[in-house]
Amino acid sequence: MTEHTRVNPSRPAEPGVASLRPLQGRGPMVCIIGAGVGGLSMARALKRKGIAFDCFDRRDRIGGIWAFDHSGQHTSVWHSMNMNTPKGLYQFSDFPMPRHYPDFPSHRQVHAYLDSFVEHFELRDSIHLDCPVQRTERLPDGVWRVTLGSGEVRHYDALVVANGHHNTPNFPDYAADTRIDAIHSQQYRYRHGYQDKQVMVVGVGNSGAQIAVDVSHDARMTYLSLRRGVYVLPHYLFGIRIDKVMGCLNDWWVKKILPYPLSGLMFTGLYKALIAKRKQLGMPKPDHLMMSSLPTLSENFANRVGDGKLKVVPQVQRIDGNTVHFVDGSQLDVDAVIYATGYHTDFPFLPAELLKVEENRIPLFQRIFLPEVPNLAFIGLFQAVTWGFLDMMERQAELTADYFAGQYLRPEPDSERQHIAAERKVIEREFLATPRNNYEMHGPTYLHYLAKELRQGRDRATATGNVSPLLVQAYAYDALSALAQPQASAVESDPCQG
Ligand SMILES: Cc1cc2nc3c(=O)[nH]c(=O)nc-3n(C[C@H](O)[C@H](O)[C@H](O)COP(=O)(O)OP(=O)(O)OC[C@H]3O[C@@H](n4cnc5c(N)ncnc54)[C@H](O)[C@@H]3O)c2cc1C
Repeated sequence: MTEHTRVNPSRPAEPGVASLRPLQGRGPMVCIIGAGVGGLSMARALKRKGIAFDCFDRRDRIGGIWAFDHSGQHTSVWHSMNMNTPKGLYQFSDFPMPRHYPDFPSHRQVHAYLDSFVEHFELRDSIHLDCPVQRTERLPDGVWRVTLGSGEVRHYDALVVANGHHNTPNFPDYAADTRIDAIHSQQYRYRHGYQDKQVMVVGVGNSGAQIAVDVSHDARMTYLSLRRGVYVLPHYLFGIRIDKVMGCLNDWWVKKILPYPLSGLMFTGLYKALIAKRKQLGMPKPDHLMMSSLPTLSENFANRVGDGKLKVVPQVQRIDGNTVHFVDGSQLDVDAVIYATGYHTDFPFLPAELLKVEENRIPLFQRIFLPEVPNLAFIGLFQAVTWGFLDMMERQAELTADYFAGQYLRPEPDSERQHIAAERKVIEREFLATPRNNYEMHGPTYLHYLAKELRQGRDRATATGNVSPLLVQAYAYDALSALAQPQASAVESDPCQG
């Protein structure tokens, strides 16, 4: 085990804390956990500010879920998957997706795009792959002590958590007692293994609906078990891309003049009039308004139901052998089950006392900051009623980088807590009460108020002298001079390559 430290002459020795300047011989350093879209957004935002960072990912490629994983060990796209977000709505603001990409690019295209983003902004040298972060501790002086999978220990002035929230699969209670051939959607990669089988997919979020459609091309028959009816949006309506037809109605100002439940009623009415008669899909009537939960986007769902290859079935009560018993008393024999039943959000590398996540309730100011901790940020911890998540992560990263650079100042912790409490009330009022919706938000409204918060925080920062929170305690001299210099390469050696 090696420990990168250096003596900081400006810092007095403290009892219990090594009197060393733990910054690998440089100015302020940020550690980013995860090189998915969230981590890459953060990396680029820090690079723009000239703040050095190390970005660690346990996988051997950048891109997070967009990097196809043959092993089934990590959450990733499946072989035939296309993005269900229109391309113009999942791209960095100053780095558009290639013009020749189709409206809904394949996962390979999305990954190639992210790869070219890393090249273009010269981020590669600071990204360390095959490099899991095992443990982090916040030392009494605020510095983060980060232990990597190799056993190496590094120290950082700030930590950015961008590990995604699709890491730990959630299974229904009855799954543990079943002997049937079953996987979680996290492991689903190819449909060919299901050829000529009777397959049941459990759960009708975006993954469940898309996997059911995919499997239905090879399976003898595919069943989709759901607890409640959902709204299924096609990719095109009257030949026009769905976001172009309905996107403008989802803008923040529409929600402002038509507050909940009016905007939800408007969407629900339009859905009924223009898109689907729910009986055609065989679904129960949704028990919520359309924008009270993330709608399911699937071009082919209705077609597969119409072709008789996909059938909606009720909620499962239990599975005995190969027989599925449903809550309405009916039963069905199947050969295989795919649980598309979501994920638990967890941060196994964070100190347990720092953040307790129950059913995806995460008390973060602006979905980014823990009020108690000045040098910790989270990127991408949300579900949003919107058309794509990338722009939201990009804005979160920009605000965080502004904060680390001293150009944005957070409100007082009490004010942050009040904001979090008010937001929780909105979630409880406007969104369906499920664990997935516990970190739901209305994307355009969030972006609007995040921009407002950034403006206000910039004014606060200017008024108080633009002090960077990275320049904590006795590190000020060292870090100030480094901030003034162009960014140095973040590490001398690759920590996971020996
Ligand atoms: C199957 C699927 C399809 C989706 N399709 C869409 C879509 O069409 N449109 C859309 O807007 N969104 C989609 N999403 C949501 C998608 O998750 C986000 O758009 C975005 O890709 C999430 O990025 P992220 O960086 O937050 O997380 P991830 O992409 O999950 O990246 C997190 C990274 O952190 C790494 N990591 C985790 N723990 C550690 C650790 N301890 N040490 C080091 N590294 C670690 C992981 O290896 C991973 O690379 C989809 C999600 C899934 C699961």
